[in-house]
Amino acid sequence: MSKFELYNIVLKDITNEKRIYEFDLDDVYFKKIDSPEVQRGNVQAKVTVQKKASTYKLDFDLNGFVILPCTRCLEDMNQQIHYKESLDVKFGSKFSEENDIVIVPEAEGAINVAWFLYEFIVLNIPVKHVHAPGECDKSMINKLKKHLPSSKGNDEENDDTTLGLDEMEEDGFSTHNQFIDLDFDNLQNIDN
Ligand SMILES: [Zn+2]
Repeated sequence: MSKFELYNIVLKDITNEKRIYEFDLDDVYFKKIDSPEVQRGNVQAKVTVQKKASTYKLDFDLNGFVILPCTRCLEDMNQQIHYKESLDVKFGSKFSEENDIVIVPEAEGAINVAWFLYEFIVLNIPVKHVHAPGECDKSMINKLKKHLPSSKGNDEENDDTTLGLDEMEEDGFSTHNQFIDLDFDNLQNIDN
């Protein structure tokens, strides 16, 4: 038994009825996929298959979460996954993809959805995935901030580092002391 045999949907057996397949995408599944983006999680995937003429329509409905390092504090966070996608599948001579239709070899008469499910999950992960406001590891953020170069002596508005910290502030984080100092300096300059 191949490691993804569970995810093989035999299409040639399906006639007029609607068939529903359910997959539990847990840590074991992600371990089998062995890809760097996602290594842990729990996503329920429902695949509804219906045959229309010579085409099989697969409707995917994914719900659950994956565990990823937060892009702000690097500690683990749960990224919610809610995704619906459809795929049209037809039989042909060999495996290929043409105009959004997936062709699978007629001799096999089946499609393995293990990788499709993984791709749908990865598509669902925003580039910036962070904890809910206030739930980041503050000690980790402070450590990370120490590694950022100081913006003192640079043009404040053109400094990327400054922009990064502004973003943290918007997300509910306390302002870096440096900014209070800078504001105070500016006030003193006006007095002079
Ligand atoms: Zn975080």
